[in-house]
Amino acid sequence: MAAYDVVIVGGGPGGLNAALYLGRGRKKVLLCDAGTPRNAAAEHMHGFGSRDGIPPPEFRRISREQLKAYPNVEVRDTRVGSVEKHEGGFRVALGDGTSVEARRLLLAMGVVDVMMDIPGYKELWGPSIFQCPYCHGWEVQDQPFAMLAKNPQYLDGAPIIQNWSKDLIVFTHGAFEVPPEQRERLQALGIPLEERKLRALHGRDGRLAEVELEDGTRIARSVMFSAPPQKQHELVTRLGLELDDLGYVKVGPTGETSVPGVVAVGDMTTPMQAAIAAASAGTIAAAMMNHALILEDADRRYTQVTGKPAPSRQKAH
Ligand SMILES: Cc1cc2nc3c(=O)[nH]c(=O)nc-3n(C[C@H](O)[C@H](O)[C@H](O)COP(=O)(O)OP(=O)(O)OC[C@H]3O[C@@H](n4cnc5c(N)ncnc54)[C@H](O)[C@@H]3O)c2cc1C
Repeated sequence: MAAYDVVIVGGGPGGLNAALYLGRGRKKVLLCDAGTPRNAAAEHMHGFGSRDGIPPPEFRRISREQLKAYPNVEVRDTRVGSVEKHEGGFRVALGDGTSVEARRLLLAMGVVDVMMDIPGYKELWGPSIFQCPYCHGWEVQDQPFAMLAKNPQYLDGAPIIQNWSKDLIVFTHGAFEVPPEQRERLQALGIPLEERKLRALHGRDGRLAEVELEDGTRIARSVMFSAPPQKQHELVTRLGLELDDLGYVKVGPTGETSVPGVVAVGDMTTPMQAAIAAASAGTIAAAMMNHALILEDADRRYTQVTGKPAPSRQKAH
């Protein structure tokens, strides 16, 4: 018998809410967190009803505090290193050298944002460089904005970013040829286009102050919107989970992955990334996982009592 019903990998909003639901569902749960949340560089988290503007560490602290009401939920600050199939469930190797067994795995590992190779970018990611205008646009509205476009499709987002500041310059960093119709649209909307390569981003008091171009020209900007490439954590590859065309873990409506018994939620499954969306996905996946475990136990009891295999029912993960 596995020591845990479920091991949750990841203690961001997705994993924490899954732990809450599975805890309330009376399952024995181990949540492991490596402590590298995506929003580590963000000063505040916005757009999460009842928690708008909360510092992300405080959000996680409150969630963990509330989990203490459920003695069947254990939280460990450790990285899950590897997972192997074991007796109908999984053996999970932890960063402290120990391993545990579980009937199911719920992954809420987030993704890794790959910092652009522009001096100053990494340092300003979080305080001045943002991915999502809903998360951080309100606080910086009407300031001098830069938008770093990584491909022609990204240029379609310029009018959306302009919603938060009319003072917007789009930078392509010389990464692609701007299609004529895009050029015309930006011009018509009064959005200047800068196609030279960026040499560096300069900050003042920890905030973006200037964008320096390859020829040394400096342009005053205090905010940048940019979506750097994202990659999956290593464990996703090790588990052999199928990915979609954009590189996110392919999941069904309640988080089921291509590997039976493994469910994934949150940022690792979608480019539509928000804390409350991850929490919501964690909630649904946890409830469905709990149902599946309860029914699995009921089937086992049925067989013990009747000596017959349990009648089939609709498949659950
Ligand atoms: C700079 C920035 C600012 C943002 N601001 C906002 C905002 O204001 N509002 C908003 O709604 N969203 C915001 N987001 C997006 C938001 O942070 C994510 O949508 C949300 O955190 C996703 O939750 P998650 O649970 O999927 O993953 P995460 O919160 O990233 O948590 C994943 C956790 O899994 C852990 N993990 C990974 N691999 C392992 C492993 N092998 N073993 C153990 N643990 C592991 C990581 O260490 C991490 O703690 C922001 C994102 C960024 C980058």
